Amino acid sequence: MIIDNARILTFDADNRVFDSSSVEIREDGTIGAVGGRPGGLPHLDAQGRLLMPALINCHTHLYSTLARGMPLAGPAPRNFTEILEKVWWRLDRALNEEDVYYSALVGLIDSAKCGVGTLVDHHSSPNACAGSLDRIAQAFQEIGLRGALCYETSDRNGPRKAQDGLRENIRFIERTRTHPGDGLIHASFGLHASFTLGDRTLRRAVEANRSLGAGFHIHVSEDRCDAGAVGRLRDFGALDERTLAAHCLHVTAAEMAMLAKSGANAIHNPQSNCNNAVGVAKLPELMRRGVLVGLGSDGCTARMWDEFKTAFHVQKLRARDPRAAYAEAYAAAFLNNREIVRKIWGVEIGRIATGARADLILVDYFPPTPLASGNLFGHLLFGISNAPIDTLIVNGRTIVRDKRCVTVDERKIAEKAAAQAAGLWKRL
Ligand SMILES: [Zn+2]
Repeated sequence: MIIDNARILTFDADNRVFDSSSVEIREDGTIGAVGGRPGGLPHLDAQGRLLMPALINCHTHLYSTLARGMPLAGPAPRNFTEILEKVWWRLDRALNEEDVYYSALVGLIDSAKCGVGTLVDHHSSPNACAGSLDRIAQAFQEIGLRGALCYETSDRNGPRKAQDGLRENIRFIERTRTHPGDGLIHASFGLHASFTLGDRTLRRAVEANRSLGAGFHIHVSEDRCDAGAVGRLRDFGALDERTLAAHCLHVTAAEMAMLAKSGANAIHNPQSNCNNAVGVAKLPELMRRGVLVGLGSDGCTARMWDEFKTAFHVQKLRARDPRAAYAEAYAAAFLNNREIVRKIWGVEIGRIATGARADLILVDYFPPTPLASGNLFGHLLFGISNAPIDTLIVNGRTIVRDKRCVTVDERKIAEKAAAQAAGLWKRL
């Protein structure tokens, strides 16, 4: 297929922009010629829309989707620990297998319509653990998105549940190796957070992962209650270049140096940090000290555009400097997320270049001011981020067209999910 008549933001090394141009999508789901003239293959006329790489969410929790509008009993949580105990740990214990499946479907449809083609998920359902990652993978495959899944192992529900978590990770990592399918589903090894993991469980996870070679995906120092996590994870051998360390808010300069030395990746989730009032990540310091920092939503939103904008605004406020965070917010969203996906799972996305996977979006953005490679940031922040996503293509397959998810029946899934959520809320 050839997409023609598009304004192309390549996000290549020179940030090249092509006006009224075309991109070839090969049969194998990769990008062929960029910026050429259309040949004889079937065309998709972009009608002058903007074509750019699909967005990536490097840390999310699809299981939280059915919490939207969920009633909370008793007084509002006063701090991070109470938020976990009163909201998320009550919710995850109540999830059954169908809840897991429908929450994934709904979260993925929302993400697809927001132009997100790849999600790195961190899952928890302690009373429906075995096989839960298969149900999430099924949802990914039905919709057609790219994903990396894991189960958040924790001792917070006792040693048997911790063992269940270890087993689910190991099983799923092996399954993605023996049954790679279309290559869209990947695995990491999930751990909740250092403060809910005893020495024995952490040691067993590291030992199990030694032969598997998957990266750990874990919350790190999201709140002060988890301070010191980086050193502990390093001492247990849980930090390496495949590790995804979500948040890294309350980390010292010495811990930043440990993260950088290990090659571990930090994932910034600014809206969640605001929502939980846990603090503001030291984004420029982390990057300056050599930590690769990507961007996630932590389940707060499907719109990665909002995370990009919040990352930018929060750092400006923190620095009280209107010049702050241009480079950092841009790097996290558009350069580092794709580098993390390439580094851990070997998938080339996030740029429009020959040979990269064809994960693309068409955006209803017709710039009212000059747009060129040198002034992309202003257009991204104040224009493109607010424009409707018309089309999402993942691995060469059309997932969203004319602003509707074309691979599944959205309305039917929403109705079933609402009934599922009503049942879930009754069990809380
Ligand atoms: Zn999280």
